[in-house]
Amino acid sequence: MARMADGARSHDEPAGRSWVERDAAVVWHGFTQMAAYADNAPVVVERAEGHYLWDPDGNRYLDAISSLWVTTLGHRVPELDAALRDQIDRGAHTTMLGNGNRATVELAEALARVVPVDDPHFLFAGDGASAVEQALKIAFQYWVNLGVEGRTTYLAFGDAYHGDTIGALSVGDGGFGTDLFDPLRFPVVRAPGFTDPQCFDRAVALVAQHAHELAAVIVEPVVQGAAGMHLADPADVARLAAACRAHDVLLICDEVATGFGRTGTLFATEQCRFRPDLLCLGKGLTAGYLAMSATVASGRVFDAFLGEDLGPRTLYHGHSYSGNALAAAVALRHLELVEAWDVLANVQARSRELRDLLADRITPLPQVGDVRLHGLMGGVELAPPADGLRWGRRVCAAAVARGVLLRPLGDVVVLMPPLTVTSEEVHEIVRVLAEAIVAGTDTP
Ligand SMILES: *Cc1c(COP(=O)(O)O)cnc(C)c1O
Repeated sequence: MARMADGARSHDEPAGRSWVERDAAVVWHGFTQMAAYADNAPVVVERAEGHYLWDPDGNRYLDAISSLWVTTLGHRVPELDAALRDQIDRGAHTTMLGNGNRATVELAEALARVVPVDDPHFLFAGDGASAVEQALKIAFQYWVNLGVEGRTTYLAFGDAYHGDTIGALSVGDGGFGTDLFDPLRFPVVRAPGFTDPQCFDRAVALVAQHAHELAAVIVEPVVQGAAGMHLADPADVARLAAACRAHDVLLICDEVATGFGRTGTLFATEQCRFRPDLLCLGKGLTAGYLAMSATVASGRVFDAFLGEDLGPRTLYHGHSYSGNALAAAVALRHLELVEAWDVLANVQARSRELRDLLADRITPLPQVGDVRLHGLMGGVELAPPADGLRWGRRVCAAAVARGVLLRPLGDVVVLMPPLTVTSEEVHEIVRVLAEAIVAGTDTP
């Protein structure tokens, strides 16, 4: 294998500067204070394979956040690499606007067999936020197309996260310092977050009260991920769906984080036993290989957009790289592998194992306030005695120093291993986490 090391320094790069320094000089990292970037134990990856990442110095890290929740089967999966190579020989990308591509058709057909949506139709995009934007616009125009007036707002939950574009940010509940964009966010009807045991009672009441002005309700089914892995009872989510049906309000399930096996079923909505009108998919769709997302619309929604050519019922929305053929080819092979390898059984077994290990080794630690887990979506909430101690940061830095890549959400340490994680690796993650919690919460 050709190593980057010396060759990559060909552009008169002064020798001796580290990769982190070179990175910080030119790359602007998302959700990252660049003035502190280099101090927070960043890993600059040179190569990735299986469940591990290597930096240019040859240090190895277990990827316990699945490269921010996208990697499902690990890195460099031979079958997925082969699917990509095959598609490259047929062309990387052709447009979805008014035209099609065989790879995208095959993917949509395969997805149609498994998504929990009736008579599903797929509008592809690049990122989760774009899939959410599409769902919001589709829900809005649905009522316009039906000639129903006044359905111009949305009901969303407290602590919700739906992405960073302005529409997605509007249905999201701020957090992460995004409140400064409030003047740009459109107002929504807000139910409490999942930490409030009454949140679904309240949401159901709000649906009844505001039905005449609601285009849709948007919810992260079962797990509010970015909020810090807050869990809901699937029966409560089902009650919300029933209220939407009873009051004729569309329901959008944002499964960008929970989709593709993360919670132990292919989609978390399956555990709630209902079929949403719109479903947002992203993150795990291409197994973590390429940027692709999709908004899935039920036949009922889709049919409301049928009409005259160039007429007003058309959805005037579409992204340049929508339905990218390389992404479609790898996503199709991914779906096949999830089934062939019985990945869901591994998620369920490793989840049980992880639950027991956390209860045994992590929950009893005095620095730990709460431990939450559903499938292989986990959060360990640290309980710092004072603000500003940055325990989440320091615990994750201590884990990285011990060869396990973790990234916190505030003081919640996120555990999101690949869905094919082994029993040995689960043990390793918990062993390192326990050490890191002790080391990272030592007085500085
Ligand atoms: C990550 C996430 C998004 C946004 O997806 P991006 O690909 O980062 O734009 C939307 N909704 C949920 C629930 C997510 O976890």
